[in-house]
Amino acid sequence: MNSVYDQLLVREHLSRATPSANLSELEETALREQVKQLLVDHNAVLIAHYYTSPVIQALAEETGGFIGDSLEMARFGARHPAQTLVVAGVRFMGETAKILSPEKRVLMPTLEATCSLDIGCDADEFSQFCDEHPEHTVVVYANTSAAVKARADWVVTSSIALQVVSSLHEQGKKILWAPDKHLGDYICRETGAEMLLWDGACIVHEEFKAKGILDLKKVHPTAAVLVHPESPASVVDVADVTGSTSQLLKAAGELPNDTLIVATDRGIFYKMQQENPNKIFLEAPTAGQGASCRSCAHCPWMGMNSLERMASSLKEGSDEIHIAPELIQNALIPLQKMLDFPKD
Ligand code: SF4
Repeated sequence: MNSVYDQLLVREHLSRATPSANLSELEETALREQVKQLLVDHNAVLIAHYYTSPVIQALAEETGGFIGDSLEMARFGARHPAQTLVVAGVRFMGETAKILSPEKRVLMPTLEATCSLDIGCDADEFSQFCDEHPEHTVVVYANTSAAVKARADWVVTSSIALQVVSSLHEQGKKILWAPDKHLGDYICRETGAEMLLWDGACIVHEEFKAKGILDLKKVHPTAAVLVHPESPASVVDVADVTGSTSQLLKAAGELPNDTLIVATDRGIFYKMQQENPNKIFLEAPTAGQGASCRSCAHCPWMGMNSLERMASSLKEGSDEIHIAPELIQNALIPLQKMLDFPKD
């Protein structure tokens, strides 16, 4: 986090991150049917992130919606003919969907679902940081507000960050990176680019521990370790594969190992297990036995996405993403650069 103030802000948001209520099987079935009908009634499509609960991911699949990472979600929303996009994820994902589809209505189960990276990167403070380093090219991670994106030269996701920064480095550019310091450090080590890093972190990935992973490997010596680069360098260093959620999902299928230790939000297990029914997936240890970790490998804000909240958002038209048109235009410029960046 950037400061004690930011840590307090994250804590304050966390105190509002109330988990979804436990439903009986009967209640869950009734709510699923209700949401399905509401999606039809409102010409809406459900777009879910890999970190949401299995029940929401399954509903997205069943109703012709989509499961993916933040960029894939926004791209799907822009392509899909539905006039309302229901984005199950965290707020910056809804905002990205709105930036790419400004003519559509974007609803979220709750606008309270946020992200420690977004919270820890205040747009005014960030703008000042950029002003202090005018000779740097500003590259920001997708996990930021529309206002921070609008201040950037480039927006990247973890699946394309290495290629974009490598290319800028080859052009002799110095990089100002925000907000995730661990991902920034990983990109810096991989590309050799000169990078100034904002001091933000993901509260989920920051808690994975290299020692715990190595201990688990002793019990499962044939297991491969998959790590998301929002994790600290010590954790990345013990990885067999480091990559974005989509890249880890791909690796889970391609690696010959029948057991995989996964250092990212456990929501990804839904897809990993579905695509690899014969493999065993283990959560990478976080802060250790009896620890009072804040996330324990699951994002508390992703956990706020529930069928109940989705139903009331659709019924009442609440929790809609609104962004000023000028901000949309400005945030689209660096986002579009990423979309146009040639993929390998
Ligand atoms: S898992 Fe981390 S990066 Fe993803 S939304 Fe939650 S806090 Fe943000």
